[in-house]
Amino acid sequence: MGADISGKLTDFAAGITAIDTDYVRPGLAASHLVVDGGRAAFVDTGTTLSVPNLLAALAMKDIDPADVDWVLATHVHLDHAGGAGELMRHLPNARCAIHPRGARHLAEPSKLIAGSIAVYGEARYRELYGEIVPIEQDRLFVVGDGERILLGSRSLELIHTPGHALHHYCVVDLDYYRIFAGDTFGISYRDFDVNGREFIFPTTTPVHFDPEALYASVDRLMSYRPEAIYLTHYAEVRDLERLAHELKQRVRAFADLGRRHAGTPDRSRKLRVEMYAMLSGWLDEHGFSDDGKRRHWLLDDDVELNCQGIEVWLDRGSA
Ligand SMILES: [Zn+2]
Repeated sequence: MGADISGKLTDFAAGITAIDTDYVRPGLAASHLVVDGGRAAFVDTGTTLSVPNLLAALAMKDIDPADVDWVLATHVHLDHAGGAGELMRHLPNARCAIHPRGARHLAEPSKLIAGSIAVYGEARYRELYGEIVPIEQDRLFVVGDGERILLGSRSLELIHTPGHALHHYCVVDLDYYRIFAGDTFGISYRDFDVNGREFIFPTTTPVHFDPEALYASVDRLMSYRPEAIYLTHYAEVRDLERLAHELKQRVRAFADLGRRHAGTPDRSRKLRVEMYAMLSGWLDEHGFSDDGKRRHWLLDDDVELNCQGIEVWLDRGSA
């Protein structure tokens, strides 16, 4: 029997459940469990330290680990796929689907680990991610753009969506007009909801941020006319026309901010101060009333990661 983690689960329509992966703080990162006809898939896994929550969620849903067919890792950033290897050890029949550019990182994670230590520092890395377990090559399913897979009786279409990461794909749930977007459709923490109205902003994490590609990917998601989109950060959003519009505006605003400071000597500090001010301004317009202390608590990690990603983009010379 797994632990009672009902407080960490949010059930939606169409057999979809968000599981809090307990990454950094509650409500920051979700894995989505999709169940159809007794078969199951996870979209994103959280970290190795999240796996007990995922297994407990299966137990609570009365699903045998042998009935999980898919682990769908939208991209290899460790809050999405860090736990994939450890999770696969518990799922004897599952295949792990990954973009062709991500596959080698899951089979041989040393470069991924080194990259993450470069972003977070060694101590913080250990605390956040634990040990990364490699996945055997023959259990990896390399995702072609537009490829369809089956889960129970439903068709899932896997589409390449660069912009946040070059090796990102999204999962289109064709029969239910839903999309699992990983990080491509940005971040919308439920903490920022005001009277049920959702707040959204882009994630521009290192090392592949590309604003033009991201606009195109958001448009591609919207071309499916989804009723709901499921974000890793965090779970279901529904006001999609407005959110897509605001997301693209805010990608542009972040890119412009980067360009403005490309040659500023004090670039790193200025970017961080101004990105925080932008987000806080949008939160004011949104009607979010909590004080600066709570805003910083909810935003500071993303401001740091976003600014690192924008600086990598500027240094790449493609801005
Ligand atoms: Zn990511």
